[in-house]
Amino acid sequence: MKILVVEDEQELREVITSSLLKARFVVESAATLREARDKVAAYEYDCILLDLMLPDGNGLNLLRNRSEDKPLGNVIILSAKDSVDDKVAGLNLGADDYLPKPFHLAELHARIRSVMRRQRGGEETLSAGNVVLYPARLIVEVEGEKLELSRKEYDILFYMLNRLGRLIEKQTLAEAVWGDHIDMADNFDFIYAHIKNLRQRLKSAGATIEIKTLYGFGYKLVEV
Ligand code: CA
Repeated sequence: MKILVVEDEQELREVITSSLLKARFVVESAATLREARDKVAAYEYDCILLDLMLPDGNGLNLLRNRSEDKPLGNVIILSAKDSVDDKVAGLNLGADDYLPKPFHLAELHARIRSVMRRQRGGEETLSAGNVVLYPARLIVEVEGEKLELSRKEYDILFYMLNRLGRLIEKQTLAEAVWGDHIDMADNFDFIYAHIKNLRQRLKSAGATIEIKTLYGFGYKLVEV
């Protein structure tokens, strides 16, 4: 689960970022509208936390100028201006939620989980075949038996379960699980090692899903 924090106040940006990292999200941040635009043009995020008063413009412009063929992901507006106009404008432009500042981090986390849950159609789990993943508890079960996974293996499986049956490019997977700054050329072997371990764990637990390799492209999680 990858989150972009768009916030110009450095201290707040850092506090939010570190709390999300602790909650096992992959987090990137942007301090200006321009930086945020560059990030969303280049990468995919599951959720964007969007401050409105940014030094180079209103955060709502990110929603106004969203590209039609590239979905922005979930957007939660964070604003010091607790104004009805901003709230309505944001929600009309497709934001999923609105959180006035100041807020408690626990409240922010709850909103993020709620937006994600809605995206998954109200379900608390992700499942395929006999495998069930519980995002709130960070656990995976195969036929009701807990599967022991490392942090990265869990993150990879989470990402893939959200994209069951779809081609996942290596680069996209790496960015989703390790962040945007990963040096790809050196790290594909590293990704492969994690995939290999995850495959073995799924297989020895008797999982009825499998990670297929599409040579030269990436991976695909399928039911078998
Ligand atoms: Ca601001």
